[in-house]
Amino acid sequence: MSRECTHSDLASCTRPSSGQVGALMQQAENLCVERNQRFTELRRLVLEMVCRTDQPVGAYQLLDELRDRGRSAAPPTVYRALDFLLQQGLVHRLTSRNTYLACAHPNRPHAALFLVCKRCGHTQEVYTEGVLGAVKTRADEFGFIVEHTSVEVSGLCKHCEEHPHG
Ligand SMILES: [Zn+2]
Ligand SMILES: [Zn+2]
Repeated sequence: MSRECTHSDLASCTRPSSGQVGALMQQAENLCVERNQRFTELRRLVLEMVCRTDQPVGAYQLLDELRDRGRSAAPPTVYRALDFLLQQGLVHRLTSRNTYLACAHPNRPHAALFLVCKRCGHTQEVYTEGVLGAVKTRADEFGFIVEHTSVEVSGLCKHCEEHPHG
């Protein structure tokens, strides 16, 4: 299977349309069946909430939303659900903010690069083999085995750059 991940329009990891959320949920369902993993109701619910938010979301925000839906859950339960989704490649974690966002290509394991707007928080996942390849090459030179790469680039998104006063 190709590791290439082009992150086309459909693959935009933030602000997916409702149709895209449906497709992502179906894809997640299929992957869990294929991998013999239990896609429990809570895991499903958490993934759906992550997909539906237009910005990367933190665990406590998810807890609030669960409570609004009448499903109270303890923080460790939500963290475990998020860990599961991370392991399956269904979500990515932004280390700098400790927030999560859905990945549109869970069937292709990949490292990710994120453009994070420092003003509105909008986060776009982009795939660039060049940067990630360079990281691996340099790590190899130090005999370092890369397990996980996540690159977060801070700056201003197009919207904020064009509308500097709001
Ligand atoms: Zn991704
Ligand atoms: Zn912005």
